[in-house]
Amino acid sequence: MTTTGESPTQAAPAGSGVGSVKRVLILGGGFAGIHTAKYLTELIGSRKDIEVELISEENYFVFQPLLPEVAAGGISATHVVNPIRELVPRARFRCCHIVEVDAVKKHVLIAQGEGLEFLALPYDHLVFCLGKVTNFSSMPGVAEHALAMKDLGDAFKLRNHVIHCLELADIEHDPTRKAALLTFVVAGGGFSGVETVGELHELVTRSLKYFPKIAQSEVIFKLVHSQDRILPEMPLSLGVAARKILEKRGIGMVLKARVKAASRERVYLGDGTSIATRTFVCTVGNAPNPIAKQVLAKGGLSEAEINGKKMGLFLTDNTLECVDKPGYWAVGDCAAIPNPNGDGYCPPTAQFAIRQAKTCARNIVAQIDGRPKVTFRFKALGMLASLGQRSAVAQMMGVELSGFVAWFVWRTIYLSKLPGFVRRLRVALDWTLDLFFPRDITQLQVFRTDRLQVNHYEPGEIIVHKGQIGRELYMIVRGEVEVVIPGADNQGEIVVAKLGKREVFGEKALLEDTQRTATVRAAAPVDVLVMSRGDLRSLVEQFPVLDDYFAKLLRERFPSSVMEQVNMADLLDDGSGAAGSVAE
Ligand SMILES: Cc1cc2nc3c(=O)[nH]c(=O)nc-3n(C[C@H](O)[C@H](O)[C@H](O)COP(=O)(O)OP(=O)(O)OC[C@H]3O[C@@H](n4cnc5c(N)ncnc54)[C@H](O)[C@@H]3O)c2cc1C
Repeated sequence: MTTTGESPTQAAPAGSGVGSVKRVLILGGGFAGIHTAKYLTELIGSRKDIEVELISEENYFVFQPLLPEVAAGGISATHVVNPIRELVPRARFRCCHIVEVDAVKKHVLIAQGEGLEFLALPYDHLVFCLGKVTNFSSMPGVAEHALAMKDLGDAFKLRNHVIHCLELADIEHDPTRKAALLTFVVAGGGFSGVETVGELHELVTRSLKYFPKIAQSEVIFKLVHSQDRILPEMPLSLGVAARKILEKRGIGMVLKARVKAASRERVYLGDGTSIATRTFVCTVGNAPNPIAKQVLAKGGLSEAEINGKKMGLFLTDNTLECVDKPGYWAVGDCAAIPNPNGDGYCPPTAQFAIRQAKTCARNIVAQIDGRPKVTFRFKALGMLASLGQRSAVAQMMGVELSGFVAWFVWRTIYLSKLPGFVRRLRVALDWTLDLFFPRDITQLQVFRTDRLQVNHYEPGEIIVHKGQIGRELYMIVRGEVEVVIPGADNQGEIVVAKLGKREVFGEKALLEDTQRTATVRAAAPVDVLVMSRGDLRSLVEQFPVLDDYFAKLLRERFPSSVMEQVNMADLLDDGSGAAGSVAE
């Protein structure tokens, strides 16, 4: 591990600049980090005694409020992102992963470069702008099967997934499967959930003219929310107005309901009911950033608490400085900052993060110069939520709007807030074209199709249907499954085997490229590792021990096959399957 500033500070002890140069390190390139760096570099101008460095995992800034529109294909994905270097040209930028903060040695440990080399960056002032992360771990199966709505990748994936479902539904003969493919469930009645469900509904509705085998009446949208009203951050009247607009379009409200679990087939709710779906978008499950948790767990910095429960947020005073820790600052979603209106902490919104960043930048310079700090003051200008199909709800400076006028205000405001003239122009063009032309239904399959994944199933759910063509091999990670075949004369069923942890199924049909000879279903909550033919081939080629394991398994399960002479790698070599070689 190296401790360096990699510049004039190379030989300087950690935590101090060269001579009188003060190093300000900003962690995170979201709304908070970008605006802190922007205001700081503007304030210091050509001063050489303060250097500003920003660290982020991505080299771009995402304008999150427009993500639901990206998911719905109304705006091109690249039009809502800006390269960080372009936004803050006067700050040093480093694209890398933050591993640890050592507040005693006053350095930040990062992993950077091709070799993910560890490097310790010293600082005099540290600004936490790390935001929050998505964490679904408290709901079994949700991490494996839900789609999130937090970053660009999520929006891109969701759009392609929805179009994929429409493609599948258009050719599906089984009515149960078709219904699941055409059921879209969004969890979370806050801003991102409401905007996502409204926008996705518009995408699907406007795309249906290309899918002659799908009737509008077959499409089901459901918004699941734990409270009895949606948009709880807004005045009740606007929550009610938003609900009416969405319901009129046919979007069902499942209120006072919490998601308990999810599987490949269903979303399970706390009241014992479930919804069969292939599209589950989960906008709940925000958790503290792991780096914030790690730093706070070490002590030294104050953590915000509500009703005695630790929140994983940096507690600051009203100057944005961490309580009792001079030189440490926190801005945006990872911070608990006293709300200037006297009511608890500031809400986690971009609107607040941008203003906090401005105050933080001023106070860092004031502290370096030995001047008094200023207090953070800001009154929210208003709140807006887009509902798709040219409608929205808005509260602007005490005035409540809903429908088309609110939508027009929403678009005007967000267009003006988007950083960069060229991006604004591109989004304006996207919106103009969208008024006259249908949505683009191209499904971009940029994700590798051969990939290992873990699927979760609840008891009774079918993992493998008898008669399906075998495309995958399954290994049980947790839980138990039962292998079922029809009884005599197709009456009833017979459980021929029960399989548990680390046991494998689905190998025969995969190798032969034939139909599954039995149904396999979950006997308990079960997690299975799913391997495609390509994944399995890569594994057995690299690990002869696995080749031997699978070959032995096949010999045991299918003793009359010709497995004695052939190894797995050879069987898997032919992309079309090794039909005949192990035929029963
Ligand atoms: C779909 C959606 C719609 C929204 N709509 C609105 C809206 O209409 N109005 C509004 O005001 N707000 C809205 N918000 C909320 C707003 O986007 C957030 O409040 C804001 O993004 C918070 O900014 P931040 O900089 O604190 O955190 P983030 O934007 O989450 O940024 C955190 C940064 O830290 C970096 N980072 C984290 N960990 C590491 C690590 N270990 N190593 C390196 N880098 C790391 C990340 O890469 C990221 O750059 C919306 C949010 C979403 C998801």
